[in-house]
Amino acid sequence: MFPIEKIREDFPILKRTVNGKPLVYFDNAATSQTPKVVIDAIVNYYTNYNANIHRGVHTLSQEATDLYEQARIVLQKHFNAKHAYEMLFTPGTTFGINMIASGFSNLLKTGDEIIVSALEHHSNIVPWQMLCEKTGAELKVIPMNEEGSLIMSAYDNLLSEKTKLVFCNHISNALGTINPVKEIIEKAHHVGAAVLIDGAQSTPHMKVDFQKLDVDFYVTSAHKICGPTGIGLLYGKKEWLEKLPPYQGGGEMIETVSFEKTTYAGLPHKFEAGTPNICGGIAFGVAVEYMNSIGFDAINKYEQELLKYGTQELLKISGVKIYGTANKTAVISFNVANIHPYDIGSILDKLGIAVRTGHHCAQPIMEFYKIPGTVRASFAFYNTKEEIDVFIKGLQKAILMLS
Ligand SMILES: *Cc1c(COP(=O)(O)O)cnc(C)c1O
Repeated sequence: MFPIEKIREDFPILKRTVNGKPLVYFDNAATSQTPKVVIDAIVNYYTNYNANIHRGVHTLSQEATDLYEQARIVLQKHFNAKHAYEMLFTPGTTFGINMIASGFSNLLKTGDEIIVSALEHHSNIVPWQMLCEKTGAELKVIPMNEEGSLIMSAYDNLLSEKTKLVFCNHISNALGTINPVKEIIEKAHHVGAAVLIDGAQSTPHMKVDFQKLDVDFYVTSAHKICGPTGIGLLYGKKEWLEKLPPYQGGGEMIETVSFEKTTYAGLPHKFEAGTPNICGGIAFGVAVEYMNSIGFDAINKYEQELLKYGTQELLKISGVKIYGTANKTAVISFNVANIHPYDIGSILDKLGIAVRTGHHCAQPIMEFYKIPGTVRASFAFYNTKEEIDVFIKGLQKAILMLS
């Protein structure tokens, strides 16, 4: 049995009310809620350890440095990276993607090609368009089909010796589709291209093994995995991180500085200029340990039950159309007849139910389906079937009011 009662006790926010109703939080794909152990780690850091790291000889600085570097090792073990210094702390997924896009700006030239998928978040489209503008490289798109999967035969046809980079999310935030990233990576490597995977939606739901995937770069955000905002991970293979130039100049990223010449520090410091989000890094490690204490297999199994139940109940309502029916995580993106998603979202909010409405930073997907947006209910392991019942009742009420 999944210990749902005990797990819900771990999340203080689940006790609050919204508009006089118990909160039903189904916006987990936008950000996850924070368990008490993570909140405690943040309070504990500022109460007992706050100091700048890596530079001080004094006790507080050393203790803070130890905690921060331990968190890096927690992440390394969790994601099975070969070296801890391949795990770079960043402010988040978007930042990590931009770091790599910037790093490649001197490695690409006219005639080179970059492949992205049709299922991308805007943060995984715009940086590549900017990179193409800067370098003269060309952007190619792996198309999608009606069920919300990538058309892999089209990917095969796009790949050539001109391909230098491939970018794809592991799981689509708008539809929940789980993409065949292992196959995508293997095929890209076949033509000598590097691959960056956006793991913002995969890391909350499954254990990802960087070495097994043989991925070149992988990014995620702590706030989608029960951690705080403003901290994330950029994994890069040692060979790539050594090859790419530093992203920012500043303190912490240098070995020696003179006005004639500066030599850069080794990994990971070369990419971590300035005072980092120390507390965030420590809390990120605690969040990953917390998720592991529940277990990703158990989390995934429970969330799939929620998905199945939610889908089944939703489809009982006439006029409901669900977008994205491929192998997916616990995300239901849907519309009801001609009702605008925003109107449904607003009424649900009055009932204490938090869902996302709109294009989910993935306008190309909405264009594909020729819709302005969807209502998206995204579940986490602390949600329940009872909450789904409340949501379904609320939705029926909203439909009645709006039609
Ligand atoms: C949330 C998300 C992002 C952006 O993450 P930030 O933390 O806002 O930088 C990128 N890609 C996907 C798939 C996401 O779900």
